[in-house]
Amino acid sequence: MQKLFSIFGDPVSHSRSPLMHNCVFKNLNYDACYTRTHLLDGTKLKETFFSLGLSGANVTVPHKEAAFNACDEIRGFAQKVGVVNTLINENGKLIGYNTDADGFMFAIKEFGDVKEILILGAGGTAKALSARFLQDGIKVSVINRSEGRLSYFKEIGCECFTWDTFKVRRYDLVVNTTSAGLKDEELPAPQEIIDLALENTSFVADAIYGKLTPFLKLAQSKNITFKDGADMLLGQGVLANELFVNSELKKEDIKKYMSHSFKI
Ligand code: NDP
Repeated sequence: MQKLFSIFGDPVSHSRSPLMHNCVFKNLNYDACYTRTHLLDGTKLKETFFSLGLSGANVTVPHKEAAFNACDEIRGFAQKVGVVNTLINENGKLIGYNTDADGFMFAIKEFGDVKEILILGAGGTAKALSARFLQDGIKVSVINRSEGRLSYFKEIGCECFTWDTFKVRRYDLVVNTTSAGLKDEELPAPQEIIDLALENTSFVADAIYGKLTPFLKLAQSKNITFKDGADMLLGQGVLANELFVNSELKKEDIKKYMSHSFKI
């Protein structure tokens, strides 16, 4: 029987995940289809997942923490961060994983030895990335618009700031994990803060993909090497697809056809 997968998010129309996963399924003759579901209320995630008869799913902004709460069991790195971006239906039980953090590590390999990072934003993606960076011995600073979400980051050992308390350091990488620039033309923080951060970093990355965000435009105007979230998307997608097909397909083949989908 054909397996059905979906991505849940709000917004979700921009997501490239259906194209990426369908490209793998089609080219490797795996009997499955991947669609998208616009979900407004994160508390409805579990019932929507099962009512659609899904075998698995991805979860994007703003439901990754709701996805963690919806699961019957959490495995691997997701346990550490409380953020889930990949769901598997295992005999009627909802199993949660996080593939974002390892996907991002794959994406920043080309920046070489990164020792100090500033993360803009304190949502689900920031949590996953900061915990993964600390695990590798990287020093992490976090700046967020509101104070409330910073307690997690303080607990795990990040230096934390709001826009009012920011003190700049020297960074190897500044990464935007806010959704500023996703469906608007906003910077992730007031321009004077972004300018200061950009003047003190070697590289810049944005989790947002498929567009040059105002943040990346500013980095470009200052001649800083930057990348958008496409490689992160590819990295997390390959790992999620491996879970969807329960390792029935070879990772190299998944990567080959998923990369191919970026050229379509
Ligand atoms: P969350 O909703 O969990 O967190 C959003 C964060 O953005 C919060 O810290 C919030 O601050 C901040 N924020 C939202 N709007 C603004 C704004 N206008 N100005 C400043 N800060 C703002 O989102 P996620 O962590 O799930 O996702 C964040 C982004 O990363 C999304 O754009 C998503 O598309 C992208 N992403 C890309 C991936 C990829 O594969 N390339 C993978 C995962 C995510 P506050 O706490 O003050 O509300």
